[in-house]
Amino acid sequence: MTQFTDLGLSQPVLQALDMKGYTTPTPIQAQAIPPVLEGRDLMGIAQTGTGKTAAFMLPSIDRLRDAENQTPFKSCRMLVLAPTRELAGQIAEAAKDYGALAGLKVHSIVGGTSVNKDRNKLHRGTDILVATPGRLLDLIDQKAFTLDKVEILVLDEADQMLDLGFIHALRRISELVPDNRQTLFFSATMPKQIQELVGKYCRNPVKVSVTPESTTAERIDQYLFMVQQDEKQTLLEMILSERHAVPGKFERVLIFARTKHGCDRIVKKLSQSGIPANAIHGNKSQPQRERALDEFKRAKTPILVATDVAARGIDIPGVSHVLNYELPNVPEQYVHRIGRTARAGRDGVAIAFCAEDERDYLKDIRKKTDAEFERLPLPDNFRAVVEGVGPTKREQKPKLARPRVRPTGDAAARKPKQKHPARKGRPAGAGEGKPQGGRPGGNRNRNRNRRRSQG
Ligand code: AMP
Repeated sequence: MTQFTDLGLSQPVLQALDMKGYTTPTPIQAQAIPPVLEGRDLMGIAQTGTGKTAAFMLPSIDRLRDAENQTPFKSCRMLVLAPTRELAGQIAEAAKDYGALAGLKVHSIVGGTSVNKDRNKLHRGTDILVATPGRLLDLIDQKAFTLDKVEILVLDEADQMLDLGFIHALRRISELVPDNRQTLFFSATMPKQIQELVGKYCRNPVKVSVTPESTTAERIDQYLFMVQQDEKQTLLEMILSERHAVPGKFERVLIFARTKHGCDRIVKKLSQSGIPANAIHGNKSQPQRERALDEFKRAKTPILVATDVAARGIDIPGVSHVLNYELPNVPEQYVHRIGRTARAGRDGVAIAFCAEDERDYLKDIRKKTDAEFERLPLPDNFRAVVEGVGPTKREQKPKLARPRVRPTGDAAARKPKQKHPARKGRPAGAGEGKPQGGRPGGNRNRNRNRRRSQG
């Protein structure tokens, strides 16, 4: 099997990988690193979770070290463009980790933060800059930054950048970078418009593809509830509070809704039922988004409700369940959504809530991905609960007291592991990862405090 040591990377990079505990390259890394080290352009079809960040970052760090150019004033040597603030932040963190021993300066700039701070930060230039396109152009327009020293240009999640309307920004940026730069282009899908962009940006690129277009990740078990739109919230609450069992052991649950308001509504109603959750979408401020992500990562609040845009590219280990509260109208989005689980070689569960008027979306998803959904039955008493003639929330409250997500530390040591009834047959501990801290049900006070601190 190929090892990182076989790929021609330098000692500082190999040591940084060693510090992270990575020895075996993922398929995209094995395929991409050698040609990128040679200076070739690259076009990679890959989703997040495949290790593509390291695939472009590791050889680029070595190329920058070899070229030995000075850190340019008000410019950068490597520019990575990413669609969202979260993804940009993640890439910058990865660059710092992988380049820890290479002596390269890394900065990231994203919208929604102080532009003055970014201007000051970049005054002396940087080796690696990770940016969202809008903020980068702001600085260029203010004459605070130029792209004329760019040696390596990376476009990450290009299809998402197009979806977000960055096409004009990308065109402008392509005219501002030097012609002789190296270009590394990544996209999860390859629609025609993306192919045209590749033609514009890349010169005779090496093509690398790790998953055929729109094929659903194999390790994800996919389930389906047929449920009316106005019954979805009740079903969601019953699942999260363990009144209705679904396959898999909950660690972190990422819930997708189509709109920002939809996300907020779900979070509000969950909170009214004593189930703390956070929302992440474009109307949230940067600190709010960071806090929501941080609480989710630490499993302090292990339920996150997101729009496609906000959750795109987020790399969080230990997402056990992706719940599609509303089905996406574009089948590719479904692939991206469920790709948030089953990362780094682990299993994952995706559950779709499909209402009558979403049947066509479901059909498109099935057609595009060949996904096989196992249909799950609605709870026995579901109609009665929805109509308010079943047990009231107050009567069911004691059941919420038992945490759905295992607590950490002493509490974890005291509590015997609960095996999920629907997960019989799986090895004990399967799907378990980082220590858990939060509990979806209970603790209204903490919820109230959080709301207060969010202002
Ligand atoms: P990415 O697709 O770049 O978002 O990476 C997905 C996750 O896999 C990140 O948490 C990486 O740190 C991790 N990762 C990347 N390369 C490797 C590797 N060779 N071995 C193990 N984990 C890796």
